[in-house]
Amino acid sequence: MARVVSAATSAFFEAHHRANGVRLHLGAEAPEIDTATTGRITVSCINSLILSGDMLLVGIGATPDVALAQAAGLAVERGVVVDGRLLSADSAVSAIGDCADFPGPDGQRLCLASVQNAVDQAKFVAARIMGAAETYHAVPWFWSDQGADKLQIAGLGDGVDQDIARVDPDGRALSVLRFRHGRLIALETANRPGEHMLARKLLATGSPPSFDELQTCGFDLRALAASGRQTTDENNHNRTAAKEVTA
Ligand SMILES: Cc1cc2nc3c(=O)[nH]c(=O)nc-3n(C[C@H](O)[C@H](O)[C@H](O)COP(=O)(O)OP(=O)(O)OC[C@H]3O[C@@H](n4cnc5c(N)ncnc54)[C@H](O)[C@@H]3O)c2cc1C
Repeated sequence: MARVVSAATSAFFEAHHRANGVRLHLGAEAPEIDTATTGRITVSCINSLILSGDMLLVGIGATPDVALAQAAGLAVERGVVVDGRLLSADSAVSAIGDCADFPGPDGQRLCLASVQNAVDQAKFVAARIMGAAETYHAVPWFWSDQGADKLQIAGLGDGVDQDIARVDPDGRALSVLRFRHGRLIALETANRPGEHMLARKLLATGSPPSFDELQTCGFDLRALAASGRQTTDENNHNRTAAKEVTA
């Protein structure tokens, strides 16, 4: 998990899994899997650890099959390369979801494998086909149910230079506020869905709160919202309201 979340979130879930009886062997590379000798599955690790069981689940990621896109003459990097309107070099072809390699808000290229990304990009392309002319810029968010605990992430942690973690006294819930250059860029939560929703709104405003602003309210997003801080993009809100008036 340390690859995709902050050290604090990774440690939180490690502790919870261990407390629930899960044995974790980290860094135990497994060059050999034997399914024939004993009738059970035996995994031999490089640190002399040997594990055996009736069932083995291998979770090692996947690489995209880009053959069809390449044969169609589309540019392919990590996925099908598209512009800010999710259009490939062939204007008859859009790419969305796991297979899209699209420009992020900071000019970086993104490939995001999440339900939110697939659904929001599908809605965006449908609207574009119907005549909308905006650039795709939804705030990415993710979730994962880890036993009884729910991990939620709002925003992307690219280039993070400071993390502030708040853990409940009983250790059941966690928030990690992630900053880049003194601005909130992402929030990771465990079992705090309300804060996750607030973070999505704050990040969508285009002017997310600063470190100093959050420090004054104890790095608590609910306290920040209660202080009257804008939590919606008023420009978007006003545009929507204007459309409703003219409709
Ligand atoms: C085990 C697992 C757990 C996950 N957990 C989460 C989670 O907790 N939260 C989360 O946000 N995301 C999760 N994801 C990721 C999420 O499921 C994907 O990001 C999402 O489904 C991507 O949607 P998509 O439409 O881009 O692609 P897909 O859902 O993969 O749909 C692509 C479809 O295209 C079809 N297809 C492929 N090639 C062709 C072809 N040549 N012709 C016709 N059809 C074709 C495929 O059969 C498939 O039905 C998980 C994924 C996995 C595998």
